[in-house]
Amino acid sequence: QFPFGRRLPCDIYWHGVSFHDNNIFSGQVNKFPGMMETVRKITLSRAMRTMQDLFPLEYNFYPRSWILPEELPLFVSEFRRMKDSDPSWKPTFIVKPDGGCQGDGIYLIKDPSDIRLTGSIQSRPAVVQEYICKPLLVDKLKFDIRLYVLLKSLEPLEIYIAKDGLSRFCTEPYQEPTLKNLHQVFMHLTNYSLNIHSGNFIHSDSVNTGSKRTFSSILCRLSSRGADVKKLWSDIISLVIKTIIALTPELKVYYQSDIPAGKPGPTCFQILGFDILLMKNLKPMLLEVNANPSMRIEHEQELSPGVFENVPSPVDEEVKVAVIRDTLRLVDPQKKKRKDTHIYFSCYFSSCSRRTCLNDSIQFSPSQSNPCVVALCRCRSLEQVREASEELPDAGLLARSEPDVHRSAEAALPSLCLKQVFPKYAKQFSYLRLVDRVAALFIRFLGVKGTTKLGPTGFRTFIRNCKLSNSNFSMAAVDILYIDITRRWNSMGIDHKESGMCLQAFVEAFFCLAQRKYKSLPLHEQVSSLIELCECRLAALRGKRLVCPRE
Ligand code: ADP
Repeated sequence: QFPFGRRLPCDIYWHGVSFHDNNIFSGQVNKFPGMMETVRKITLSRAMRTMQDLFPLEYNFYPRSWILPEELPLFVSEFRRMKDSDPSWKPTFIVKPDGGCQGDGIYLIKDPSDIRLTGSIQSRPAVVQEYICKPLLVDKLKFDIRLYVLLKSLEPLEIYIAKDGLSRFCTEPYQEPTLKNLHQVFMHLTNYSLNIHSGNFIHSDSVNTGSKRTFSSILCRLSSRGADVKKLWSDIISLVIKTIIALTPELKVYYQSDIPAGKPGPTCFQILGFDILLMKNLKPMLLEVNANPSMRIEHEQELSPGVFENVPSPVDEEVKVAVIRDTLRLVDPQKKKRKDTHIYFSCYFSSCSRRTCLNDSIQFSPSQSNPCVVALCRCRSLEQVREASEELPDAGLLARSEPDVHRSAEAALPSLCLKQVFPKYAKQFSYLRLVDRVAALFIRFLGVKGTTKLGPTGFRTFIRNCKLSNSNFSMAAVDILYIDITRRWNSMGIDHKESGMCLQAFVEAFFCLAQRKYKSLPLHEQVSSLIELCECRLAALRGKRLVCPRE
């Protein structure tokens, strides 16, 4: 769909699925390299586990999880230990295949022996997770929240959260899990794609009824029942910031590999879908992060048996259009270079039917909320819009704008629904960014540009430059540490393309070194002390005179 005949580079590239352009040297791309891999169920669980090891209280919004098959023995032994210490404990677990979506292959279990290890899609690598048995119910139904989050920049970190989201409802009244109801997906799984097939599914014709509602309508209801909605929002903001802090180290490794520093390349931004479950006590729990949240604003309706039609979905439109409109406003290059009079959009919204979108947009005024309107309304006249859309009937649009028209169009748009939360609240959360600093050390020693794994020589250089070996920890011991950890991570890794030590393996090695050196401290202090020592010794190597912390 890339606009054929495009001669000038675009300011904004809008991809449907993932970052995959090696020949973009400027502008902004709506996907980060490696985002899909980073938010997969297993990778996300690993990143959250690392943060839970460092900051158990701060990261208790993510259910305890184990990775299958490699952590099955650990899961079984922890299950037994808990059961022995409290025989009345009757937990439920949810098993989710890695890389699955829309509830695919998910099932609930009461006992580790119920895990299906062979013979089906459910036997793929998976995450087994504590099931949240007491969710908040509305109209006796379980629901979850889909919140849209814009990661506007990785370095410096900039995060925006949409003021409204979607609440997706189950279609059978909820009961706590028992052996009898474990299999009832319409009771336990909130996925729209599953519940749409239930006879009880109600297509919402307003934002506060039916099986998909706006989150703000739920908040109104909670507020009228006396719930502390302000605290709930602040907990949600904190959950989002902490989750992104857990993801950034891995993303930075991918970023430097695809877009090496010092070479011309685009910058990236991405809209993420956060799936959150509220517990009965209103504590938000993270279920997962979606790299490609659906931006559909219509749904299929069966008019007569076998005859389907796409009809607008007011709830989706209310929430999603504002997210895309504001994303485009926030990444608007015109904001940075006011002198520049031309804006080129190559926009292809994967989830909207472009032809309809363009035709409809021509009749829209700039204030109306249609994702393409933002781009279209920058055109000098409707005539120009028509020309642009005729030139590229199916490939999105390429539009020119004049700054005065742009300004008046901007003024006519509704106020921003995306609110900045980082760096706004950076002070409260910066102490959590330890793994980010470990990742910076890792990237520094990667050596060859374009790689994501550290070779043995890179690891040795890291140890030497940071002066971490001594008579108690010889270079031979360093090599053994490298080989042991790397081999283990590579044996369970998904990515076998490159050999060497991946970031998570380096983080594990770093934690080992920190534990050896600063035995008596809690883990996060051990790690932060070692980071400071390494940063200081590397700065000294570069000739800067700093006072290093004592060993
Ligand atoms: P998918 O990507 O397949 O949608 P999710 O992790 O979102 O996988 O899980 C699907 C659904 O299962 C969620 O929307 C939610 O309703 C339910 N669910 C997932 N994890 C839990 C959990 N730990 N506790 C309770 N319900 C859960």
